[in-house]
Amino acid sequence: MHEYTIAYDLYATAKKAAIDNHAEKVKKINVDVGKMAMVNPDQVIFLFDTIKEDDPLFTTAVLECHEIDPVTACTCGYEGSEIYVCPRCGALPQLVKGREIVVTNIEIEVEDA
Ligand SMILES: [Zn+2]
Repeated sequence: MHEYTIAYDLYATAKKAAIDNHAEKVKKINVDVGKMAMVNPDQVIFLFDTIKEDDPLFTTAVLECHEIDPVTACTCGYEGSEIYVCPRCGALPQLVKGREIVVTNIEIEVEDA
């Protein structure tokens, strides 16, 4: 289960950030999900909600997935979003961006010092 691993990784990343920053609560986790990552964001969110259920740090945490369009480049110099055939030379372009799943921002609530 690809999505479960991703959801768990996101949970673990947010948890580490929360602990490192002495957070009381995790509020929101923003994630960029490349369209070529072959991941269903709705399923990741669903699984994330299941994983975080018993964690008091995460009672109000929301996972927000932002889908990112692919970016490709070809040896001929083409750069764009064509993923299968280079419109300039017909070769297979290389995927530069669009397969990654990256946490861009974690919003936390820190207790008053
Ligand atoms: Zn090309």
